[in-house]
Amino acid sequence: MRRKLAAGNWKMNGTPEMLAELSTLTGGEDGPQILICPPAPLLTRAADVTLGSKVEIGGQDCHANTSGAHTGDIAASMLKDAGATAVIVGHSERRADHAETDAHVRAKAEAAYAAGLTAIICIGESEEERLGPDCLDIIAAQLDGSTPDTATADNTVIAYEPIWAIGTGRVPTMAQIVETHDMIRANLTARFGDAGAHMRVLYGGSVKPTNAAEIFQAENVDGALVGGASLKASDFQPIIDALA
Ligand code: PEP
Repeated sequence: MRRKLAAGNWKMNGTPEMLAELSTLTGGEDGPQILICPPAPLLTRAADVTLGSKVEIGGQDCHANTSGAHTGDIAASMLKDAGATAVIVGHSERRADHAETDAHVRAKAEAAYAAGLTAIICIGESEEERLGPDCLDIIAAQLDGSTPDTATADNTVIAYEPIWAIGTGRVPTMAQIVETHDMIRANLTARFGDAGAHMRVLYGGSVKPTNAAEIFQAENVDGALVGGASLKASDFQPIIDALA
C-alpha cells in the first residue's frame, strides 16, 4: 500500500496571513498525507500554525552542501530545523532558472536524506520533447540521473510534472499520464526492487478540483504536486478529498 500524498508548492507566493488557512486542511484519520511547501521565510511560522494538525510542511529547494559560502542558499538541515519533513528538488523552474542538472538534483536529494528529509524529486518533459519520438526515454533518463542509489520508499517521492502543463491549465491526456506513470513505476521497480514498487509517484501540472478525481484514478498516480491550486484551502481541500 502506498499512502496517498497531496503536496502543495506555493512557489514565490504567500503571506503570513495566508498561513492561517493551513490549519483548516484535513485528510481524515487514515486519509492522505498533506504537505505544504511555502517560501522559506514562512517555514517557521507555518510550523507553528500547523502544530497538532494533519498538515506537514516542506521546503522548495535545498543546497547540496551542509554549510558554507553559498549566499542565498539554504541547507537541508536548516529546513529540518525550521520544522520541514520534506523538500522539493529539481522543480523545472529551478532547473530552468538556476541551470540545475540531473547531477545537481541527485546531490540535493542526497543532502535531503542526510538531513532526515524526504526528497520530492521532480522530472518532466518540455512540450517539444512530448511531441517528439523519445519522450519516455527522456523522462526515464531524468529519473535515473536525478534519483540517488540510496533512494527508498521512505526517503523519496517522485513527481512527474510535464513542464508544458505547469501553470498553463493544460494537462496531458489520461492515456499519457497512465503510460508515463507506468513507465516510471517499471523503472523504479527494476532499479530498486520492492522499494521501487512502494515509492510514491505524484502527478503535477494544472491539477485542479475539477480534474483531480480523474487523474487519481490511474493506478500509478499516488497523489499530486499542486502549484496554483494549493494557495487557497477552498481549492486544495477538494483535491485532498479526491485522494481519500
Ligand atoms: C508546480 O509548480 O509544481 C505545479 C504543478 O504548478 P501548477 O499546479 O500551478 O501547474
